[in-house]
Amino acid sequence: IQPPEKPLQSEEWNSLRESFSSPEIFEEVMLNSMVKCNSPVDVAKSLLTHVAKSHGDIAYSLLIKYLALCVQQGKTSEILDVYDIMKIRFKILESGAYNLLIRGLSNSDQWRMALTLLEEIKKIMIPSRTSYELCIKAASRHQEMNLAFELYHEMLDKNLAPTLDVMQAFFDFSRGMKGAELQKELFGILFYLRDNQIYPHKTFMQSIKLWFESIPGENWRGHQTNIKDSGKCPVCNHQLEDSSLTEEEYNNLRERIIRDVIHGTDTFRKTSPQEFEAFQTFVENRLPFDIVIDGLNVSHMQLRQTQCENLFNAVNCLAKGNARLLVLGRKHMLTNSSNWRKDLMKEMQDKADFFFAENISEDDTFLLYATLRSGKHCKFVTRDFLRDHKACLSDSGTRHLFRKWQRGHQIAFYSSAEGKHINFLMFLPLFIQQPALRYDCVVQTTGDTWHIPYKNIFEEKYSYQIPRKWLCIQQK
Ligand SMILES: [Zn+2]
Repeated sequence: IQPPEKPLQSEEWNSLRESFSSPEIFEEVMLNSMVKCNSPVDVAKSLLTHVAKSHGDIAYSLLIKYLALCVQQGKTSEILDVYDIMKIRFKILESGAYNLLIRGLSNSDQWRMALTLLEEIKKIMIPSRTSYELCIKAASRHQEMNLAFELYHEMLDKNLAPTLDVMQAFFDFSRGMKGAELQKELFGILFYLRDNQIYPHKTFMQSIKLWFESIPGENWRGHQTNIKDSGKCPVCNHQLEDSSLTEEEYNNLRERIIRDVIHGTDTFRKTSPQEFEAFQTFVENRLPFDIVIDGLNVSHMQLRQTQCENLFNAVNCLAKGNARLLVLGRKHMLTNSSNWRKDLMKEMQDKADFFFAENISEDDTFLLYATLRSGKHCKFVTRDFLRDHKACLSDSGTRHLFRKWQRGHQIAFYSSAEGKHINFLMFLPLFIQQPALRYDCVVQTTGDTWHIPYKNIFEEKYSYQIPRKWLCIQQK
């Protein structure tokens, strides 16, 4: 329904309501439509006045919609009015209402009121990440960086992961500001990116660059660059951190993963102990492998091909150079079907060892076990990021080692159909292999240099693609 353009009298609302097909939800539908059309607040107000007159009461759901409209239009005094009404009527609000109130107030000259609300929420629940970030941005916008960082640490302590957006805001609003403490905090964000293997996108990278270059009296200069395969930065000639683990680090990691992840509490939820034992025996009798392949995962690489053809291409491509391959398969691959052709399966089994697990088993555990038991040289192929397993690792030191190992040992595949040469697809190899890199693709510093890998566009967090573009920052 189309909302009216001007405020209406009670009688007019009444006749509109009667002409509506389901009068019992008229107000809800009307307010939704007003939010959608961004109707003048006065019009919505006249509807609420009418509702209050005829029912003596306005339902919570209607107030929320009205609040959303006021927030949308930045009507601060109306937002405060709604808050007063809600506080008297409901005492405690739910998080959606708090989010809206904070969103509305944090963008106004009443932004300190948003901080008061945040305190109020804390008494009854953990504030949402959005609430925190809105308050942080409001504080930074008003150059209250200490306050902003206080809230930031508070949200980290509550295990709320900050968005790239709020991290970028810190760099934007600190531009040109002086202070050792502030600098330490911003370096802290860069270390957070490092520890969590997060890559900023291009505009965030630019904010970082501009912030560095704006620090008074420090002479930082930033350049965008591509790092050579050798790991050397063409701008400053620094050698990036090595991706390989020391013998001791590797042994530590292997023990921890086998203990915490593979034999940990959640191992046998998805696979039976018998099956895993059979797998262990299978692996131990054939060690070591050079590459372990998550067969099912690879089989979904190219939608134009059958699963079997995808896996066949991958195995052929990786079998070059006499690499010893292990393919983790599922039992259903052995039932001759259009997706899984018997002849191709047989040919593959001449080139690689296959282990076929039950159809319900989780491949990750098998993948980790076979790769780690094979030794430091062994790499693995999957598009997954093994994110669930990282959470099982108990301490941050081990998690860091795991990520480092993963960066150096995971081979990712792209389908070349994603490239520009789609017309020549038939004549190109179907998979382009991304080699595991020799240098460690992670935010890093030597004190007077910083190297920050970044992505061209804002991409999903789980993207398996490792960025090849870097920001090099050095102090002259
Ligand atoms: Zn450099």
